[in-house]
Amino acid sequence: MEGTMNPVLRQIWAELGIAEQVIAEKQLRLYDEAESLIDAEIADDGRVWQLTPAAAAAWHAMRQAALDDGIVLRIASAYRGTQRQVELIRRKLDMGQTIATILQVLAPPGCSEHHTGRAIDIYTPGGPVVEEAFETTEAYHWLAHNAQRFGFALSFPRDNPYGYVYEPWHWCFRPTQLA
Ligand SMILES: [Zn+2]
Repeated sequence: MEGTMNPVLRQIWAELGIAEQVIAEKQLRLYDEAESLIDAEIADDGRVWQLTPAAAAAWHAMRQAALDDGIVLRIASAYRGTQRQVELIRRKLDMGQTIATILQVLAPPGCSEHHTGRAIDIYTPGGPVVEEAFETTEAYHWLAHNAQRFGFALSFPRDNPYGYVYEPWHWCFRPTQLA
């Protein structure tokens, strides 16, 4: 990322107390914001989740295949822009959490896969939402066996090198990983 550092991100990180050294140590990369997004799903509270057209199509196909197997998959989070990531981090700072703790569960602005419009946090109704216990659900089991067929991969397994907690709910559409 050296040489390509965006001055706006630099300023955002400084304001949040995120040292650039931390980004380098965690070997985080920058993600471009999605250029085109479509509405992929509407949450029960009316919130609209957006994805890139390709990721949305893959999500819809995967969601239907899961449903055919009796598994309900829903979106807990999809596209998030840089500013939204700033808001999420600020909210945790305001609650008294340290930035080091926050960065175990939230990427620094600019470094979140959710910026790409290809990452989805998945839950199943009645199951844990964005919690490690999602791993114990039938939905997770289904994803572990089938997600790859649709181009989705688990981004943050246990002991991942980026210093994030294990995120069994976070799947990213990376069609290059299709066999
Ligand atoms: Zn996520």
